Amino acid sequence: MSNAAVKRIGVLTSGGDAPGMNAAIRSVVRTAMNKGIECIGIRRGWSGLINGDFVRLNSDSVSHIINKGGTILYTARCPEFLDREGRAKAIATCKMLGIDGIVAIGGDGTFRGALALTRQIAETGYNLSVVGVPATIDNDIGCSNYTIGFDTAANTAIECIDKLRDTMQSHERCSVVEVMGRHAGFLALYVGISVGATAVLIPEREVDFDRDVVEKIRSARLAGTTHFMIVVAEGAGSAVEIGRRIHDEIGIDPRVTVLGHIQRGGAPTGRDRETASRMGYEAVNALLAGKGNRVIGTKEGSLVDLDMEEALAMVKNLEMYRYDVLEALSPSGT
Ligand code: ADP
Repeated sequence: MSNAAVKRIGVLTSGGDAPGMNAAIRSVVRTAMNKGIECIGIRRGWSGLINGDFVRLNSDSVSHIINKGGTILYTARCPEFLDREGRAKAIATCKMLGIDGIVAIGGDGTFRGALALTRQIAETGYNLSVVGVPATIDNDIGCSNYTIGFDTAANTAIECIDKLRDTMQSHERCSVVEVMGRHAGFLALYVGISVGATAVLIPEREVDFDRDVVEKIRSARLAGTTHFMIVVAEGAGSAVEIGRRIHDEIGIDPRVTVLGHIQRGGAPTGRDRETASRMGYEAVNALLAGKGNRVIGTKEGSLVDLDMEEALAMVKNLEMYRYDVLEALSPSGT
């Protein structure tokens, strides 16, 4: 599909928020402005397109946000967008405003919405492309090695767990910390390796409580350790329940911490700001090059743009060797 004459683009953030989304918005707006393209911010994800909830953006609108967590455009989940009727309203907004390109910053769900929208709008003869920019703290998007927000979330969790470790070490206690990751353990495993966890539980690996928790604590104790850190991804089980089982099975009294949404906030790290800046730039360039529906991704450190449909079919598997690394670095009594 050729879409060489892009004149007015929309930018939105959708789905779960991630630190670095603001840096991506700033990059999209500044890149567009510097190329003489008008930019419209769509508020609250796809629901903003349905409701005509927009704001005109210029270079000044995105000043002083590169360092801010959250998203100035707000984000939302929008069940109405799953239906043709909902998308028909969004199409009406695009036509009304003369939007001929959209940069959608979000996760897989956001890109699915983008594809559904562009297919439906094409039926009306209107030419609209959407370029997706992957942003989710879970880093679980198949087409991209890296997603905006992961580094910040991981560092937030690491900082919190380091603090917990100080008190756990002083009192010789066991800590069970639940980190985000309903379907993916990238964050939990990365954090677990970084804090030197006694055990990490992730959704990708079936939990054998005796092998994965009890024996891990036991061998650490036999090696002389008197405090233990169990990191659990929310999709692998409830930290409260795991704490209770530890108590019941080996008689120690763990302290449970659920980090929750704290992991979604805070100033983005340099990695997230820089990646978001490059991705936003590439997204606008892809629109201007008339490349059709694309998703920006990272591959071996470089940025690539992929056909959106193909990108959505890609799967990223957790590298299980990371588990081997975690285990290889456990204290040993022998
Ligand atoms: P994320 O983008 O973080 O994966 P969600 O999965 O919640 O977040 O998706 C964000 C929004 O994208 C949804 O609330 C919905 O509006 C839209 N969306 C998701 N899947 C589809 C789909 N199959 N068709 C149309 N819209 C969708």
